[in-house]
Amino acid sequence: MAIERTLAIIKPDAVGRGLTGEILSRIHAAKFHIIAIKTRRLTKKEAEGFYAVHRERPFFQELTEFMSTSKAVVIVLESENAIAKWRDTMGATDPAKAASGTIRKELGASIQHNCTHGSDAAETAAFEIGYFFSGSELI
Ligand code: GDP
Repeated sequence: MAIERTLAIIKPDAVGRGLTGEILSRIHAAKFHIIAIKTRRLTKKEAEGFYAVHRERPFFQELTEFMSTSKAVVIVLESENAIAKWRDTMGATDPAKAASGTIRKELGASIQHNCTHGSDAAETAAFEIGYFFSGSELI
């Protein structure tokens, strides 16, 4: 299996509820390496650029407002098969449909306030990592 990197975000709902430590310990337990990490309050424009693929979706305004309300924690994770492994660790988008033991099942409040983000493919991961981190931050 290939070593991959993926972009994870601890979203503003989870940061605001004091869940950052809990989610970081799940990242540690799943044996990801943290390559880079920072806190950021996204501007509305940054959130819109990040979620540009969703701009035609009905929840786009609500989602980008939520993502720019307060601080998020943006993280580059590395492991074997990191992209799929982090999505498995998070669980399905809707906490009500997520598998037991996953972050979204155990901590998520709603389909929007679902605590974490994870890239969904190699190309998306490359775009999303580059959106927040420069090359010198990723050595
Ligand atoms: P993800 O890859 O599992 O995060 O899911 P998507 O890429 O489909 O959606 C991006 C984010 O938009 C999700 O993580 C949710 O925060 C939000 N979202 C997805 N579907 C809905 C929805 O039906 N309503 C609302 N309000 N937000 C949604």
